Amino acid sequence: MTALPTPRGKLTENRFLNDLTWLRVGGPADYLFQPADVRDLQDFLHVLPAEIPVFPMGVGSNLIVRDGGLRAVVIRLGRGFNGISVEGNTVTAGAAALDAHVARKAADAGVDLTFLRTIPGSIGGAVRMNAGCYGSYTADALRKATAVTRQGEVLDLTPDDLNFRYRQSDLPEGAVLISATLEGPSGEAEELHARMEAQLKKRDETQPTKDRSAGSTFRNPAGFSSTGRDDDTHDLKAWKVIDDAGMRGATKGGAQMSPKHSNFLINTGDATAADLEGLGEEVRKKVYETSGITLEWEIMRVGDPLIE
Ligand SMILES: Cc1cc2nc3c(=O)[nH]c(=O)nc-3n(C[C@H](O)[C@H](O)[C@H](O)COP(=O)(O)OP(=O)(O)OC[C@H]3O[C@@H](n4cnc5c(N)ncnc54)[C@H](O)[C@@H]3O)c2cc1C
Repeated sequence: MTALPTPRGKLTENRFLNDLTWLRVGGPADYLFQPADVRDLQDFLHVLPAEIPVFPMGVGSNLIVRDGGLRAVVIRLGRGFNGISVEGNTVTAGAAALDAHVARKAADAGVDLTFLRTIPGSIGGAVRMNAGCYGSYTADALRKATAVTRQGEVLDLTPDDLNFRYRQSDLPEGAVLISATLEGPSGEAEELHARMEAQLKKRDETQPTKDRSAGSTFRNPAGFSSTGRDDDTHDLKAWKVIDDAGMRGATKGGAQMSPKHSNFLINTGDATAADLEGLGEEVRKKVYETSGITLEWEIMRVGDPLIE
């Protein structure tokens, strides 16, 4: 294997990723790099041989990493990338800051970013996935994002550069987001905190929040994705077509379509990535057979299957 540069942060060879994903599955990455700070990340990427792929990872709440792992340097940001500061209605957060922390700090300062409170990812993942709920999206609040490119340059990105779409945005290949600047409307701190408590309660009532999942497995069928646009409606949900196909509660190995919310794929204990992805594919097939609808994955699946 090509020799890699020696960073100040932590570089681990052949590092299993299962404990770094919400679903608790995933084989080894060739390398896991946890940079000490922005300079360390820049220096590392600048000298990393161009043929070695880079995969930036947040807290793994929207990922199935396949059992054979990832032939890449996985970059995971931690301390040194999780600061949060508020100035007026503008909140600047490091990419490793958790969405929930950002929402709470913003609320303390009377800024409404409450939509982030119940999303279990990091700000880097929120920008990349245009995360959102309850009718608000990262795209609505984002003013600027900053990334380190694959060549090690610091690059500011506007919302136009990011080309936000439903659960998607564009980033230059291999670029690692390091921070984001968001703006929210003013609100009264106590009221904002109360709203977030209500959202958490609603989640607990309707979703398997105590299980290992990666959130919604499939997008709501095209045209029904709650984007808030006029040409979009909300009356056809992925969970409904999964129910109609009789797949609520369906299992494969340790994987199950949650009996509580049928669009949540869960690891009941000993699922492999192959169980989870395989069950998802069975659901897609059944839904197509019963309703003619092709469900699209919302969970990202990355890496190689295990070859026995
Ligand atoms: C219980 C549960 C509920 C959920 N509810 C919602 C919801 O209501 N709304 C919603 O939108 N999502 C929801 N999700 C999905 C998930 O939390 C979001 O997609 C989140 O934004 C992913 O962030 P992450 O840090 O975990 O990213 P990861 O899952 O680690 O990665 C996701 C993608 O982002 C990229 N990425 C992450 N960090 C960086 C970075 N620093 N630079 C460049 N790229 C990066 C990765 O390469 C990957 O492509 C839910 C998940 C769970 C488990």
